[in-house]
Amino acid sequence: MADCLFCKIARGEIPASVVYEDETVFAFRDIHPKAPVHVLVIPRHHVATLSDADDPALLGLLMDRVRHIADSVLRLDAGYRVQFNVREGGGQEVFHLHAHILGGW
Ligand code: 5GP
Ligand code: ZN
Repeated sequence: MADCLFCKIARGEIPASVVYEDETVFAFRDIHPKAPVHVLVIPRHHVATLSDADDPALLGLLMDRVRHIADSVLRLDAGYRVQFNVREGGGQEVFHLHAHILGGW
């Protein structure tokens, strides 16, 4: 989507601290971290919110990459939290689907 902030980050048009990328998923550090380690994992394909994510294959792949990034890239050996903020009432501010990985306490 042309004017979506996270689409622009995934295309490399806006700089970000990238921790992982592949053909379907992109992960980068949150600009205002709420934990010592705070990474956002997004699909490259634009989906606004979890409520609109009606492709089980995409959701399965996203969660598999969340697990891989947290365990094998970030090495959050003590554990971590995975959070989706869904729509305005759930605190979502950026309307491109993303999982928060929070850890490192
Ligand atoms: P939400 O509230 O939508 O679930 O989370 C959006 C997150 O994106 C927030 O934690 C916010 O700090 C982060 N964020 C907003 N703008 C940018 C940006 O330009 N770059 C990065 N890396 N993170 C951003
Ligand atoms: Zn987008």
